[in-house]
Amino acid sequence: MMALMKIAVYPGSFDPITLGHVDIIERISLLFDQVVVLISESSQKASLFTAEERKTLVEKALAHKKNVKVDIHSGLTVDYVKQGGTQVIVRGLRAVGDFEYEMTMAHMNRQLDASVETMIIFANPKYQYISSRGVKEVAKHQGRLQGLVPEMVIPALEKKMKGQK
Ligand code: ADP
Repeated sequence: MMALMKIAVYPGSFDPITLGHVDIIERISLLFDQVVVLISESSQKASLFTAEERKTLVEKALAHKKNVKVDIHSGLTVDYVKQGGTQVIVRGLRAVGDFEYEMTMAHMNRQLDASVETMIIFANPKYQYISSRGVKEVAKHQGRLQGLVPEMVIPALEKKMKGQK
């Protein structure tokens, strides 16, 4: 029997992608045949970068990973997952603060579609403190962005911040 192609969907805002996200993506790319980084386009959450800009930055940051692709979705993650014939959603967990939110979301998704499993990957302690929100705060005040985000994200952030003033 032919083995199933195992695809993992890693959804999030990625506004912008950080080294914490890159670490998670690289690690799951070793466990699955393919990883889809799913940029969620939410009408509720205001984002600094457009979904297209976030997609381009993720693609550049993961260009060295041939089994990673990036997509944009504005509906429920389970609907995207189902339509692609995937069964696994991967989420990263930084600290206990993330736990309640991730658990609630995983149970909600299971209620919506029992065939979809959520897998939790623990953040690399090296990047545990990094969040897109924190990175935006640093960028806003012209702080040092090296070591927080992939190199190509730095000029993009600086440009955005200039435009915002
Ligand atoms: P969301 O807006 O849905 O929380 P994010 O773009 O902030 O999405 O993050 C996407 C996923 O990556 C989430 O599961 C989040 O917990 C995880 N994540 C965020 N920052 C890090 C990090 N530094 N290390 C590991 N995982 C992270």
